[in-house]
Amino acid sequence: MTKTFASKAFGAASPTAKLAPLSIQRREPGPNDVHIEILYCGVCHSDLHQVRDEWKSVMPTVYPCVPGHEIVGRVARVGSDVKKFKVGDIAGVGCMVDSCRTCPQCKAGDEQYCATMPTFTYNFPDKHVGGVTYGGYSDAIVVDEAFVVKVPAGIDPARAAPLLCAGITTYSPLRHWKVGPGHKVGVVGLGGLGHMAVKLARAMGAHVVVFTTSERKRADALKLGAHDVILSTDAQAMQSQLGTFDFILDTVSAPHDFNAYLEQLKLDGSMVLVGAPAEPVPLGVFSLIFKRRRLGGSAIGGIRETQEMLDFCAKHGLAADIELIPAAKLDECFARMVKGDVKYRFVIDIASLK
Ligand code: NAP
Ligand code: ZN
Ligand code: ZN
Repeated sequence: MTKTFASKAFGAASPTAKLAPLSIQRREPGPNDVHIEILYCGVCHSDLHQVRDEWKSVMPTVYPCVPGHEIVGRVARVGSDVKKFKVGDIAGVGCMVDSCRTCPQCKAGDEQYCATMPTFTYNFPDKHVGGVTYGGYSDAIVVDEAFVVKVPAGIDPARAAPLLCAGITTYSPLRHWKVGPGHKVGVVGLGGLGHMAVKLARAMGAHVVVFTTSERKRADALKLGAHDVILSTDAQAMQSQLGTFDFILDTVSAPHDFNAYLEQLKLDGSMVLVGAPAEPVPLGVFSLIFKRRRLGGSAIGGIRETQEMLDFCAKHGLAADIELIPAAKLDECFARMVKGDVKYRFVIDIASLK
């Protein structure tokens, strides 16, 4: 039987329960494992979807559920074969803690598209301890070094945490669709993912326009790096730049009209969905057909690419804009997230669990 140790965590016992303290077991590190004392964990809207079992048709939640996949901490112990890390290093863990490592996608560094599914950081069968994996709303985690990244010294660890999901989830499609100078990019939804998309697309040299439902975020959007802001509830504003965008990244967490954004694309333009509303959304095919537009999706990013993203952020002086919270405030923060009231990522100070 795998030897384990106890770790303090915050999790939910049911879809309607408040997040509460609980004790979980972590495996003792094996030869390739890194034991990380977690310092900070970002609060992603996916955590809320999963805790409330909103994705039950695709990924039903197993309770208790300990979410959290924007993890930054200090390396406390390393296994005998670990090469990349030493005790004291600041390390990061994102949405995956393992994958098959042998399929073509894993070999290409796209572990997020592993043929047999990567092992997600929480709510996925845990082959070591049994039950399901538990995420970063906890004071420790043990992960194979192949799924741990280095947090560059130049980035404040608390502000680096959201890069492990919000950062890579927006960086990866921007890179895949080769966004750069001369491109006009739309970012739909200014939340955790959206605000990182703005910073990254701007740093890549694109002209960036934010589509938001929140007039109160206009000034922030410009400060974050957007060149322009369109209030999506203003019909006239939505008409003003129709057919002019090369690329649109949709980060919205709730069902909304895709067609209104597809119409913003120029000939051969692409819109990519990263936001993951639970319910299906109707699609009018003519918004695709008439201008040979493309609609795609994208999931997080690979481990090598996550390191590349962190290094890119360090080089460009980028990190998330955060509100640091104690774990006891998580329910309040979930409620604010549903209202779009986040500036622009909650990050749990894990010292509050002790
Ligand atoms: P978030 O911080 O809550 O931001 C979502 C934003 O969407 C809100 O701030 C709001 O922006 C907008 N919005 C919310 N409800 C809306 C509605 N009814 N109509 C129009 N706009 C609305 O969430 P997040 O953490 O960035 O995550 C966003 C989505 O991405 C979630 O569904 C999450 O599960 C998903 N996600 C996917 C991946 C992936 O790999 N594909 C990875 C991480 C997260 P405005 O106020 O500006 O309108
Ligand atoms: Zn996430
Ligand atoms: Zn694989």
